Amino acid sequence: MLNTEDIKFFKTALEARRDRIKKNLNITTEEMNGLNSNDLRDEADFASTSLGRAVDNAILTQQANELAEIELALGKISENLYGICEMCEEEINIERLKVKIFARYCITCREVIEKEHK
Ligand SMILES: [Zn+2]
Repeated sequence: MLNTEDIKFFKTALEARRDRIKKNLNITTEEMNGLNSNDLRDEADFASTSLGRAVDNAILTQQANELAEIELALGKISENLYGICEMCEEEINIERLKVKIFARYCITCREVIEKEHK
């Protein structure tokens, strides 16, 4: 079972990660707005910009997803459900949580889910 110190550690880590992503997303949004207002004159410029934007969007999507996972994990901490697998309701190994702080499933269930999605 996770003790108070562990929970405090994960809460701090989650909040730090959340703040960093929020900051990243803001910066990226501003950069994208700057890109959109650029006067594009030839096709070469347009191609490189579209590509750049596609990459930005992929990162944005990934970070937005991660942000949602982090918010979920923080909600679980306040409900004392953090570190409990959503599928089998067993405790998630602390070493696994350290690698993936917003893990929702224990390693066994994660493998089952990944197999089903293949
Ligand atoms: Zn499980």
